[in-house]
Amino acid sequence: MSNSGGKLSLPAARSGGQAAAARQPDGSQVFLTTKLEKLLDAARKNSLWPFPFGTACCAIEFMSFMMSHYDISRFGAEVVRFSPRQSDLLIVAGTVTDKMAPVMVRIYEQMAEPKYVISMGVCACTGGFYRAYHVVQGIDEFVPVDVYVPGCPPTPEALLQGVVKLQEMISKGETHYQRTLAERRAARAQAGA
Ligand code: SF4
Repeated sequence: MSNSGGKLSLPAARSGGQAAAARQPDGSQVFLTTKLEKLLDAARKNSLWPFPFGTACCAIEFMSFMMSHYDISRFGAEVVRFSPRQSDLLIVAGTVTDKMAPVMVRIYEQMAEPKYVISMGVCACTGGFYRAYHVVQGIDEFVPVDVYVPGCPPTPEALLQGVVKLQEMISKGETHYQRTLAERRAARAQAGA
C-alpha cells in the first residue's frame, strides 16, 4: 500500500509471505492500532446496502438520488437491494399508512444486522400534511430511525447528506443499533461484576 503523496509505503508480502508493515521514507515502521469493532464499523459505513421502501412521491426523488449524476458510489451505498436479507439500510421514502406499517416492520425485522434506518420526507418523518387516522404520524412509532431527512419532497442532495450523516454516526457508534448494543454490553458487564 502506498498513498498518493508517497509518504507511506507497504512492502507487501506479495512474494515472500513476510508480515507486511507500512514504512515511512526514512525506513521507520508505521503502526496503526484500533479496535476490531472500529475496523468493522469503517467497513460497514462504506458499504451500505439500501432497501428502498418507496410508497409515494418521495420514491421518485430516491430514483434521482440513485442516478449517476449524484454518484452515490462515491459513498459506497449504490448497491440497492430489494430483498431485506441483503440490505442493512432501510430508506423509507413516502407516506406510510396504518395498513403498510406492518409490512415495513416485517421488512425491517428481516434485514441483516447491524441495520440502520433513514426516514425520507416529512410524510415518513411525521405524517406530513396527512393529519389523518389512517396515516402513520412518524415511522419512528414502529422502527428506530437514525436520520430524518426533512422536505416535501427532500432533494436528492438532502438524501445524500442524510447518508453522509449516517456514515458519520456509524463511525462514532451513534446509531440506534450501536447504542442499543453498547447498552446491552454495559448491562451484561454490570451484571457480571
Ligand atoms: S413528503 Fe411530500 S413528496 Fe414525500 S411522500 Fe410526502 S407528499 Fe410526497
